[in-house]
Amino acid sequence: MKKQCAVIGLGRFGSAVALTLAEGNFDILAIDRDEAKVKAVADSVTLAVQIDATDEKALREAGVQNMDVAVVSIGENIEASILVVMLLKELGIKEIIAKAVNDLHGKVLSHIGVTRVVYPERDMAQRVAHSLIKPAFLEQIELSPEYSIVELPAPAFLWDKSIKDTKLRTEYGISIIAIKRKSVVNKEERESWNINPSPDDVIKKDDILVVLGANTDIERLG
Ligand code: ATP
Repeated sequence: MKKQCAVIGLGRFGSAVALTLAEGNFDILAIDRDEAKVKAVADSVTLAVQIDATDEKALREAGVQNMDVAVVSIGENIEASILVVMLLKELGIKEIIAKAVNDLHGKVLSHIGVTRVVYPERDMAQRVAHSLIKPAFLEQIELSPEYSIVELPAPAFLWDKSIKDTKLRTEYGISIIAIKRKSVVNKEERESWNINPSPDDVIKKDDILVVLGANTDIERLG
């Protein structure tokens, strides 16, 4: 059965979440109080309704209580965001993901029992900044201020060495969690992923590595 997800607040973040999940085979109940925002996603989601999400009766009539997950993407109106989360908890929604616009907002959301708080603007700002600081890094996901997962082209000193021989783990404290390799099959370029590679797998020129470790250690690779 398809997973049922309510997306409440259809600004740039909420509508992108709704459209991506709809493509990913979710049943989406999209909610906004602004008619134009509702219309913009109506053709792509299961049901789109124009209601004020702080109105418990309206939420029930829309069927929010039947959802497995809810994404609350109301940012600027912090009071509404908190009220909506509390109503969703009362309606028994187990998994609630909410967007926060600042640390205090995020703290309150965590305190009232949101499963996961996301800070889209801050996270994207950090990614853009990281890409300028370290252009060699193709992608960087910060796990904490000290640790990251980074995607980067394999540095030359690792080419033609097995993972075991690179001593990345013992000398750099870094784990390779995936290797992306391009190959040409029937004149067509293909990409294959080796997830969780074994110690004997060999790193080649033009490989892309996904590594996990302390930022200071990973920076020695870039
Ligand atoms: P984004 O950065 O994602 O584009 P935004 O900053 O433009 O968002 P927000 O204030 O975060 O706007 O609101 C996102 C959406 O939530 C808006 O489309 C707004 O109409 C909707 N919204 C705000 N309050 C409510 C509410 N009480 N009920 C339903 N929808 C609401």
